[in-house]
Amino acid sequence: MRAKMGNDFVPDDLDASKWENLEPLTRDLLERKLSCSGCLENLISDSSKLAEHVSETGALLYIGMTCDTESEEKKGSFLEFVSNVRPRLSEFSDSLNRRIVNHPSVDDLPERYDLMLRGMRNDIEIFRKENIPLGVRQTELVTEAQSINGAMTVDFHGEEMTFPQMSKFLESNDRSERQAAWTTMAGRRMEDNERLSEIFDELISIRHQIALNAGFESYTQYMFRAMHRFDYTIEDCLEFHDSVESVCIPILNEINMNRRAGLGISELRPWDVNEKGGSGPDIHGKDPLRPFDTVEEMVEKLSDMFNEISEDLGGKFDRLVEMDTLDLDTRKGKAPGGYQYYLEKSRVPFIFMNAAGLQGDLETMIHEAGHAFHSLYCGHLELIDERDYPIEFAEVASMSMELLTQPWWDKFYENEEDALRARRTHLEGVVFLLPWIATIDSFQHWIYANPGHSREERAEVWLSIRDKFGSDMNWTGHTDFREVSWQQQGHLFGVPFYYIEYGIAQLGSLQLWKTQMGDPQKALDDYAKAMSLGNTKTLPELFEAADLRLGFDEGHFLSLLGMVESELSELAA
Ligand SMILES: [Zn+2]
Repeated sequence: MRAKMGNDFVPDDLDASKWENLEPLTRDLLERKLSCSGCLENLISDSSKLAEHVSETGALLYIGMTCDTESEEKKGSFLEFVSNVRPRLSEFSDSLNRRIVNHPSVDDLPERYDLMLRGMRNDIEIFRKENIPLGVRQTELVTEAQSINGAMTVDFHGEEMTFPQMSKFLESNDRSERQAAWTTMAGRRMEDNERLSEIFDELISIRHQIALNAGFESYTQYMFRAMHRFDYTIEDCLEFHDSVESVCIPILNEINMNRRAGLGISELRPWDVNEKGGSGPDIHGKDPLRPFDTVEEMVEKLSDMFNEISEDLGGKFDRLVEMDTLDLDTRKGKAPGGYQYYLEKSRVPFIFMNAAGLQGDLETMIHEAGHAFHSLYCGHLELIDERDYPIEFAEVASMSMELLTQPWWDKFYENEEDALRARRTHLEGVVFLLPWIATIDSFQHWIYANPGHSREERAEVWLSIRDKFGSDMNWTGHTDFREVSWQQQGHLFGVPFYYIEYGIAQLGSLQLWKTQMGDPQKALDDYAKAMSLGNTKTLPELFEAADLRLGFDEGHFLSLLGMVESELSELAA
């Protein structure tokens, strides 16, 4: 009897990468008698334990692969798990969901389970067995796209360099060096653009089929359900795009106007400003910002910083360092980008990134630390589902950390001026990122509303979206690259529709920042309180818990971006 209860249901050393080890446990969950009071709750608790093991196994395989994309063995183990274990698990999970929601005493479950049951009912409705092999194929394609990107290096100044290492040349004050770096990288991307387009074509057709199989007209509608977007609609996203266009673009244009004047150029070229984050050379000709030389130095200063902000955040950051689950430096064969992956069984956050000494790297690290704090704040919640916070709110945890830590950035700079410049650059990044979010999101809305499109049509639509949301820039000689420049955004391949979340979250983060300006302690308290709730409240309730409003309208944008604008002019003074 005891073996079926609580902690003991899953042996601690279970190897969850093999289905034969999982199968008896899944059978128990699907077949055990449920006639006692509390039996249903035990079932939910035991299935959560199993899910923790499985999640952690998947996480470790993914981490292993992204840290070493050149290892065929690691890729093989991950793909083996994805193609042999996950499909069986998703079938099992559907059966278990049905068992729970159809049980006669389901209505007697305490309120605590309401959100979980809503999710289960939703997932049952959209589950189709025939979509499982399509999901496997999808992961294979995504993994291939990731290896292609991870393998991209260039020879520059006589050295082989990764793309993150190349970023520093794009901040060079020597325009011809910037141009050479940018052109070399664009050229390297063009070598693989054909295969990446083929992969994307196949992904679109698989995804459309998945939606049709599940009874939806489009993949967009399917994904709104699959991603549990219960609290906002397709129309809200379109309103978001409009608000970005009317509120952010004028500020972006003004930043670019100052940039042209500062650099003494009459028009911007692609190597003068990063389209996504707005970074580039200093407009007063100062040396690029270099907040740290080595990863060790970055970590040490971050520890100082978080400890000064609060004992709570400092303690949490130091725990991350002690647990030694950070892979932060850039090297060949490492997948691009950064992420935080929570190891559900050990309840330990893992952080991955490619640090090369740039201000942007510091921001990425602070961002991922915010995700890790979120995981630690809600790590006490018992069930995996209760800790599985919505992505929109996860990004509030990370993006607000970028803003809330700003007053302490002088730790990374010898003079005050550089620290102020770093803050200004980051705020300009906020102004640039919102239009990039609108770009990626509206591109995806178009892609999946028109799954039969040709590559020419896709290029045309991408360019028109970029014209609407991008910088006024001269692309002469590089239009072929610009047409496929969406390929740089890995989310389009790996996590479709995951992007508007950053926008929703940025609006939340800016509000927390506003709170901080009036009452720093309240901002930290609101943060801690809301993050501790994990996934036990709806998205609007989580926003409310942090004293934030969830909104997409122009008025909301105007008040928040107005604040950014006035801070920017203060920092420039
Ligand atoms: Zn994030």
